[in-house]
Amino acid sequence: MRPFRAIVGISVVVAAALCATPPRSMRMYVFDCATLKDRDPANYGLTRQQVESVDMSDPCFLIVHPRGTLRWETGLNDAVYDRPEGGGAKHDKIDKSLKSQLAAVGYQPKDITYLAISHLHGDHSGNANDYAGSTWIAQKAERDYMFGPGLPENIHPNEYAALKNSKTKLITGDYDVFGDGSVMLILTPGHTPGHQSLLVKLPKTGAVVLTGDLYHFPGERTFHTVPVNDKPETVASRAKLEALIQKNNAQLWIQHDMIGNRKLKKSPAYYE
Ligand SMILES: [Zn+2]
Repeated sequence: MRPFRAIVGISVVVAAALCATPPRSMRMYVFDCATLKDRDPANYGLTRQQVESVDMSDPCFLIVHPRGTLRWETGLNDAVYDRPEGGGAKHDKIDKSLKSQLAAVGYQPKDITYLAISHLHGDHSGNANDYAGSTWIAQKAERDYMFGPGLPENIHPNEYAALKNSKTKLITGDYDVFGDGSVMLILTPGHTPGHQSLLVKLPKTGAVVLTGDLYHFPGERTFHTVPVNDKPETVASRAKLEALIQKNNAQLWIQHDMIGNRKLKKSPAYYE
């Protein structure tokens, strides 16, 4: 069994070297953090004919920058959904845990410098406790909502409870994560009080906007419909984001768009 051990040893060394030496230019990894099954288009103001797929993708992202790393979104909780039958009423599914996908590119959660999530919902905050050792960059309005009274029943505060004691950078608006304009958190409230989106400017790929849940189905953008449970601020937040897309000539990646997601390069491949 020596050769096997040697190979394992080498890959551990390679993985350690990967995270010990930050790359000279940026990378963005796309992880598959779940498939959400059979969502009802009517909840987003759409008909069945106006959507291509009623299943939704649920990606998580890792941005590696010479000055550190940012985990954007933590997906559905691995322990609950990473099983053959899936979990929840609709059998939402994880095919590969986030932790294992992260390890495959040479990182453990404790290596990650910054954590940011678009909002508190369980398909975005499910594994947040794993990142309690990172600096959490949080919109004040969202953090207040997450740890305040009167949360709706569909929220699982236990899945992000450890963030309460994280080193936290509280923000109230847009925020430049690495100080060079390459990764910007964009405050886009409406879906939740402190919902945010992410603008990433990559050297080769160009600018990409990650929506969080500002849109779910592309049909919401085409037919100008708003999720029934969103507050009216969503309309202004979308106008703000669309202006940003124009200004930066950015691609828009609607995170829950199953069809768009299929076309993305998945980790261990990455965007530069
Ligand atoms: Zn979502």
